[in-house]
Amino acid sequence: MNKFNLQNIIRENVKAMKAYSSARDEYVSDGSKMIFLDANENPFETGVNRYPDPLQRGLKAVLAAQKNVSEDQILLGNGSDEVLDLLFRGFCDPKTDNIITLPPTYGMYTVLANLNEIEERKVELNLDFQPDVDAILKVVDEHSKLLFICSPNNPTGNTIASEKIKTLLEKFNGLVVIDEAYIDFSNQESWISELSNYTNLIVTQTLSKAYGLAGIRLGLCYASAEIISVLNKIKPPYNVNELTQKRALERISDLDAVSSEVNSVLNERAKLIEALKTICFVETIFPTEANFVLARVDDATKRYNELLEKGIVIRNRTTQPLCENTLRFTVGTASENEELIKALLSISKP
Ligand SMILES: *Cc1c(COP(=O)(O)O)cnc(C)c1O
Repeated sequence: MNKFNLQNIIRENVKAMKAYSSARDEYVSDGSKMIFLDANENPFETGVNRYPDPLQRGLKAVLAAQKNVSEDQILLGNGSDEVLDLLFRGFCDPKTDNIITLPPTYGMYTVLANLNEIEERKVELNLDFQPDVDAILKVVDEHSKLLFICSPNNPTGNTIASEKIKTLLEKFNGLVVIDEAYIDFSNQESWISELSNYTNLIVTQTLSKAYGLAGIRLGLCYASAEIISVLNKIKPPYNVNELTQKRALERISDLDAVSSEVNSVLNERAKLIEALKTICFVETIFPTEANFVLARVDDATKRYNELLEKGIVIRNRTTQPLCENTLRFTVGTASENEELIKALLSISKP
């Protein structure tokens, strides 16, 4: 069984430091008539003249109910990118520790490892884009702190097999971070429901994809209360601004609207896949549970440029491991997809 002990992986400086104590930590307006002269704010009302709630209590109350966790199991950040950065800063000692990633995958893990001077040990996925569990466990040592699993994976689109994730959760003595940025497009259940079974599990999600709020920057992290308290200690006090908190609260209070958009994207995804099958230069369409489709073509750079000339921007993934000559198509609106398919057909003529 797992010998995971959180105390062994928290950085010593993080254990020793005291968190910044902000005025709004001590007292948050509950709407009653208090006079706030504690934070050197401008007293004249602009709607945002007060500092935001550093712990985003209103948002977390709704999220906790929706996800069936307690509020102290949630951390919110300025996009998942901030959440991921906090994981490095809380648990990885620069120049000493290492993380494990499973390419081809999300590029931010590498950027953050480089920024924080943490060694990245890359263990490529198999040809079916599933992890090689034995190979992963072979590169692990006592300095391996984080293992990033992106499911559904970007850019491949597939989900990672539950049995493999379970084995990794049991055998890896660091934190297993499951990045579920695309979970709302998938048939798989979120790993949030497994938090009570694995003390080393961290699940990250975002409002940037299915929720349609990439512009407000809100990332979500679900983990044990112990892990969350470490992250709360080191996060910038006001990392989620007032406008973001308000806008996010409105959106998560209307899940019907979110799911109808998700359904539309899923319908369009199915149509796009059917259309791609008819394009002569498309060789393989990879199975996807996300809001994008990865396809192998005859010459990715050539096809990318041809679409660009027609005013359509997709992602050329040809330089990624295992992704030679692949293109990643984000699923758009019905009319955007019609334009895309028209353009594909027009360049498809031999
Ligand atoms: C888009 C994406 C995110 C989202 O990051 P934000 O900072 O929340 O916008 C996270 N992880 C993966 C794998 C993504 O593709």
